[in-house]
Amino acid sequence: MIEILNEIPFQLDPAVIIKSLRLRTFQPNIEKIVGELVRDIQPIAKPKAVYKVSYIDNKTTDSLEIDGVKFTSRVLRANLDRVERVFPYVVTGGIEIAGYKKAQDLMTNFCIDAIKVHIIGVAANYLLQHVTKKYALGQASSMNPGSLKDWPLTQQKQLFSLLGDTVAAIGVRLSDSGVIYPLKSISGIYFPTEVKFESCQLCQRERCMGRRAAYSPELAEKYK
Ligand code: SF4
Repeated sequence: MIEILNEIPFQLDPAVIIKSLRLRTFQPNIEKIVGELVRDIQPIAKPKAVYKVSYIDNKTTDSLEIDGVKFTSRVLRANLDRVERVFPYVVTGGIEIAGYKKAQDLMTNFCIDAIKVHIIGVAANYLLQHVTKKYALGQASSMNPGSLKDWPLTQQKQLFSLLGDTVAAIGVRLSDSGVIYPLKSISGIYFPTEVKFESCQLCQRERCMGRRAAYSPELAEKYK
């Protein structure tokens, strides 16, 4: 079963956007810049999502099949050890804001990017809540191709093949090199978990603005 969510609600709050910028020095015009951008972007942005209910088969030590499509990743395999049903998905901030530009100055562009990142985050969270509630998962986690060396970006192709043409229906496409357009879009697989998992727990990248959990050497050791 594939479902498209075309009406994802969101409300931009300038104070939240300014906080997400993590500015180290005082920017005198920041409230004006962000306020104007929020007024511009709020009415035009249309974040969307598509997901599917899928089933797992043929588990090996480092691979498994989802609806007959093979994925190779030790971490994914370990996380889905006791799972039979998963939810492949694509979420996008939408083509409506993909080309949005206001001015050439760096700070304005930085703020636009932060707003787009915020919108995709809200949309992903909306989808997660939707799937968790609809399928009574209790708690769910996500893994995304390319977030870990163990599950490379090249496996986006397999993930997109699970969703077929419906991805185009929300204005998203995958390039031959595995990049998703519009750029503020993400793909992944939601799965039920007793203990919340974040790829960031296995990622040593420093200074990542998107970090959602601290690196855990103990967990990294467990997945080896
Ligand atoms: S820390 Fe950053 S790069 Fe690493 S998995 Fe998390 S979001 Fe991705």
